[in-house]
Amino acid sequence: VERIQTPRARVDDEPEARLRPQALDEFVGQDALKAQLEMAIRAASGRGEPLDHVLLAGPPGLGKTSLARIIARELDVRITETAGPALEDKKDIASFLTSLEPGQIFFVDEIHRLPRAVEETFYPAMEDGQLPVTLGVGPGAKVVTLDLPAFTLIGATTRAGLLTAPLRDRFGIQHRLDLYNADELAAIVVRSAGVLKVPVHMDGARAIAERSRGTPRVANRLLKRVRDYAQVEGDGSVDAATAYAALDMLEVDHEGLDRLDREILHAICVRFSGGPVGLSTLAVAVHEEQDTIEDVYEPYLLQRGFIQRTPRGRVATPHAFAHLGIEPPASGQS
Ligand code: ADP
Repeated sequence: VERIQTPRARVDDEPEARLRPQALDEFVGQDALKAQLEMAIRAASGRGEPLDHVLLAGPPGLGKTSLARIIARELDVRITETAGPALEDKKDIASFLTSLEPGQIFFVDEIHRLPRAVEETFYPAMEDGQLPVTLGVGPGAKVVTLDLPAFTLIGATTRAGLLTAPLRDRFGIQHRLDLYNADELAAIVVRSAGVLKVPVHMDGARAIAERSRGTPRVANRLLKRVRDYAQVEGDGSVDAATAYAALDMLEVDHEGLDRLDREILHAICVRFSGGPVGLSTLAVAVHEEQDTIEDVYEPYLLQRGFIQRTPRGRVATPHAFAHLGIEPPASGQS
C-alpha cells in the first residue's frame, strides 16, 4: 500500500512543485503567521534591511518550505536551500555562507539536525554577519574572521524542542504551524484541483479534506489518487462517493488514518494492553523509525485524541479502542 505520509519532502517532484502556493495570498490558513510575516516583510523592505531570521516549526507537509520560498519571492531576493544533515562540518557552512548575495534567504530544513559544532558557527553569522574560519593546520593554523553579506536565515524544524536555546534565541520571528482544519484543507483541495484541471464537487473536496490528517501535502496526494480513480472508474469528476471509494481502496479510513496509524494503535491497544509503552518499544513493534512515528504519525493521533503522551510512554484512549472495534482491558490496568 502506498504511504500517504512521507517523513519529509525529499525531491521536489514536479507535480508537487506545481501545487505550491506562489504568494502569501495563495497560501491558505495560518492567518496569524501570514499577518506577522507580511508586516515584517514590509517593514524590512521599507528600511532596506534584510528580514529578521525566521524559525518555522511544525509537522512535515504543513507548508514550511513553501513559506520560505514565498518570503523570498515577496522580498524579491534569491533563496539558497539546504538541510541540517547536509551541513556536516564547518567547511560546508562556510561555502554556503560566503556565496550568499546580500539580503538573500538561506533556508535550512531540519535545522534541529545540525551538528553541534556547525550550529555554533551560525551564532556569529546570524548575529554580526561574521564567520570565523581556521586557515592552515597544526601549530601554524590561525583564525581569521570573514565579513558576510547580510542575509536572512529561515530554519524549518519538525522539533523545535530539539533546538538549543542559543540557536532558538537568534530567530527574531518564531512560529509554530498547526494542523489545518477541514475548511482550510477543502480550500487547498479546490485550489489544487484547479491547478490540475480536475473537476471537483464541494462534497468531494470535503471528503478528501476530512481524511487528510490536517496536512496539505496529504490532501494534495490524496487528491491525485482520487483523480486517478475518478478517471478510471467514473467520468473524471470528483464527488464524495468517488472520493470515499478511492480512499477506501487506499485504506485511508473515515478518520483519515492509514494502515500504519492503525498498526500503531493496534500495537498500543493489544500488544501493550493500552500502554503506557515507550516510543522505542513501539517503533520496534511496528517496524518503523522512532523519528517517523514521532514527527509524522503522532501529531495527528494526539490531536484526534487516539493516544496520549505520559511521562511513562504512550497510552491509548477509549477512542482508540472504539475505532479499532476492540474492548479496552478491564479496569485496574497497572
Ligand atoms: P513542509 O516544508 O512543511 O514539509 P511544504 O511547504 O513542502 O511543507 O508543503 C507541502 C505541499 O503542501 C506543498 O507543495 C503545497 O502544495 C502544499 N501546501 C502546504 N501548505 C499549504 C497552504 N497553506 N496552502 C496551500 N498549499 C499548501
